[in-house]
Amino acid sequence: MRYAAVAEIYEKMEGTTKRLELIDHLVQLILKTPKDVIDKVIYLTQGKLYPDFKGVEIGVAEKLALRVISLSAGVDQKQVESVYKKRGDIGTVAEQYLGKRGQVTLLSKPLTVQRVYELLDRIADTSGQGSLETKLRLLSSLLNDSTPMEAKYVMRTVMGQLRLGIADYTVLDALAVAYTGDKTNRIYLERAYNLSSDLGAVARTIALEGLEPIKKFRITVGKPVRPMLAERMETAEQIVEKLGGKCAAEYKLDGERLQLHKMNGKVMIFSRRLENITNHYPDAGEATLKHVRATEAILEAEVVAVNLDTGEYLPFQELMHRRRKYGVEEAMRKYPTVLNCFDVLYADDIDYTSRPYEDRRRALEKIVEHNHVIRIVPSIITDDPEKIEHFMQQAIIDGCEGLVVKDLKSVYRAGAREFSWIKLKREYRSELSDTIDLVVVGAFYGRGRRAGKYGTFLLAAYDKETGRLPTATKIGTGFTDEDLERFPELLKPHQIPTKDPRVDSALEADIWFRPKVVIETIASEITLSPIYPCGRDAIRKGSGLALRFPKYTGKLRDDKAPEDATSVSEIVQMYRRQLKKIGEAASEVAAA
Ligand code: ATP
Repeated sequence: MRYAAVAEIYEKMEGTTKRLELIDHLVQLILKTPKDVIDKVIYLTQGKLYPDFKGVEIGVAEKLALRVISLSAGVDQKQVESVYKKRGDIGTVAEQYLGKRGQVTLLSKPLTVQRVYELLDRIADTSGQGSLETKLRLLSSLLNDSTPMEAKYVMRTVMGQLRLGIADYTVLDALAVAYTGDKTNRIYLERAYNLSSDLGAVARTIALEGLEPIKKFRITVGKPVRPMLAERMETAEQIVEKLGGKCAAEYKLDGERLQLHKMNGKVMIFSRRLENITNHYPDAGEATLKHVRATEAILEAEVVAVNLDTGEYLPFQELMHRRRKYGVEEAMRKYPTVLNCFDVLYADDIDYTSRPYEDRRRALEKIVEHNHVIRIVPSIITDDPEKIEHFMQQAIIDGCEGLVVKDLKSVYRAGAREFSWIKLKREYRSELSDTIDLVVVGAFYGRGRRAGKYGTFLLAAYDKETGRLPTATKIGTGFTDEDLERFPELLKPHQIPTKDPRVDSALEADIWFRPKVVIETIASEITLSPIYPCGRDAIRKGSGLALRFPKYTGKLRDDKAPEDATSVSEIVQMYRRQLKKIGEAASEVAAA
């Protein structure tokens, strides 16, 4: 398949933000693609070569990219650099310069998808001494055979800037339409994706084998399962009513969520955002290996730092020491952890995801030993809200955030945030009872004490349907002096000259960032806003929703990707819940 055919469709996708049109273009692309390369085309269209959990980045630096363009086009590198500085988009710069180069030489070979993929893969795989030269050579050979339009997308891909705004769910819709002619089959594809976190593999299976194997799709040890998530409610009474009687209340520990995959005498560990973080927790791996009685298993646990002398849980921040590349051994000694298992998804040939909570908990109790490095989260089963409140107090005394209350009958719904798990947190001194995780997309310079530094940040939520990031607030409070030193360091590598195309904002920030960093905020309320596009038209025509008096809680959510930030629909729900609360309070006052 010619890469030009792919690039032409990218060009069309770029021209629209309408989801239905995007799906149409994707369907065209899928139908044009030979089945044996569909996985590659799907990865490429998402700007990747492999599923995220493989951790492969193409890794071409800006300088190298600019050098390749200048060499291919035969122009001075300084000139290319200055145009790039103004435009901020490597793609259009490549297109412009290669357009001036005239005809692609007769000797050049037309680019195929296979060749683009293979060369990009070799570039990604090149490291160490001499790698710069090798990457330069490989990328130059690609550009020399590219038309200007192809060069635009090749360069964006190598720099990790192919932003076609295609959410995973849009790809699933398109696969369902293209291969079965029926969009409702997306539910099967979605399940397969949630169990494997690998869109390319799902596409390949349906393309080559049809819908039946997708319907029977099984979990694979070694491939992360997209995590089941919790909804939120404010009182134990509401929760018991919602779950309709007896439920399991478990401690909600405040650490890092780990998915542990045990097989062949080894353990792989995935984070909440499905990155392979095996190296961060050799101790958790060891504990799973020694104290989980199953040859193959997938468990979920919250890893928490502990004080070994007192047995007390320590705050989430203590786990930061594990994020380093080096010195994990030392961090392990200084900041020991304990693994608190709360679910089992697979053990020795049994796929537990389709079994009810009760069965899973029983299996967990059977296979996990209890000692000072591994245990099962404390829980009670009850239908009495008072008992839940009491257990909640105890959880907080023990250093937890609150409880997660679970439906006894519910299966493990990978990738879903539903009311089968409901979190109940300690009351914040705020009208809103939960924190909101938002993506930092821009910043404004500060004044006074913050002159010359970032003063406030522009934050966006994630729209699951469109894959876009509409802004929801500006934030300037809650940052310590240390944070103010640290944030520029953290954000500088993501600075871009113009707004990221996925971001929606009426405000012009002084500095823009590529959406990467997610922070936890708490606000006094959510209000209707004519300025912020988050949830526009959902409540009132022409109005969006914004956070009022937002404050940074001090928690950097580096366990979340932008796609895991609080979603627009969650914010809309929170607004509705808040309205209901105000309504109830008003009627109480009226009745009094
Ligand atoms: P939050 O921002 O409240 O931590 P989140 O967005 O990270 O939430 P939620 O689905 O809202 O994720 O809350 C569930 C999280 O709580 C899990 O991802 C897990 O890390 C943590 N957790 C702690 N204890 C438990 C438990 N017993 N059962 C399930 N999840 C638990």
